Amino acid sequence: MITVKNLSFSYKEPVLNDLNFEAKEGEVIFILGPNGSGKTTLLRCIAGILKPKGAVLIENMSLNDFSRKELAKRIAYVPQRGDTGFLTVFDVILLGRKPYMGFGPSYEDYRIVKEVISLLNLERLAFRRINELSGGELQKVMIARALAQKPRILLLDEPTNNLDVKNQIEILRLIRKIARESNISVISTMHDLNLASLYADRILMIKNGKIFASGGIEILNRENIKAVYGIDVEVIRMNGKVVILPGD
Ligand code: ADP
Repeated sequence: MITVKNLSFSYKEPVLNDLNFEAKEGEVIFILGPNGSGKTTLLRCIAGILKPKGAVLIENMSLNDFSRKELAKRIAYVPQRGDTGFLTVFDVILLGRKPYMGFGPSYEDYRIVKEVISLLNLERLAFRRINELSGGELQKVMIARALAQKPRILLLDEPTNNLDVKNQIEILRLIRKIARESNISVISTMHDLNLASLYADRILMIKNGKIFASGGIEILNRENIKAVYGIDVEVIRMNGKVVILPGD
């Protein structure tokens, strides 16, 4: 479990203002909000890359009390723009095992890399260089590297960017399955409200650096969407799911 307590962050201007929430084990939380509302900044604070005011607690210990290596065994962060470079897919995923390595990779490290490659169906690409991949393939590799870290908390920044509709659904299903089966807390930003509504256990809507609404998909209603994004939409409810369409 991860607890965010009175979290505030400013670059020069304030961006996040007194956020409070928890992510339970096995729970998938989507953070929604317009461009510039501070979603990436929040993930970077939780990942320990930025130093916010307030506290981020894992297992009731402050993030600041963990060494970088110990933190990397608990939290994995997949940024929007993945690494490029000349390593093979296999080697990039193996980098996810770095926090566990002594002098070099162990049999267990290789075993986990193979396991993750098969989980994400990346066998065909395993020995391709990552600079030769499509955006969607690269995104999967970055998620694979994060999973190889065997984290308790997985932070994803727009994981469906660059993916076609089949891959979007495949990745979100997989993320939810991994959260459930491995009891990982997933905190992910998301632009697509419809996709968020399909795969979220909980949604946080952010506006002007504050949590405007938090809850199940019922918070994706006309009023909240208008208040947060400034657009008129029609929200249709079907079989416990919601479909959001532009208004008029
Ligand atoms: P989102 O992910 O919701 O689009 P961001 O967290 O990227 O929002 O940005 C929130 C605000 O912080 C924006 O106004 C952005 O311009 C600003 N910002 C982001 N990164 C930096 C930075 N490194 N230095 C200064 N301001 C930044």
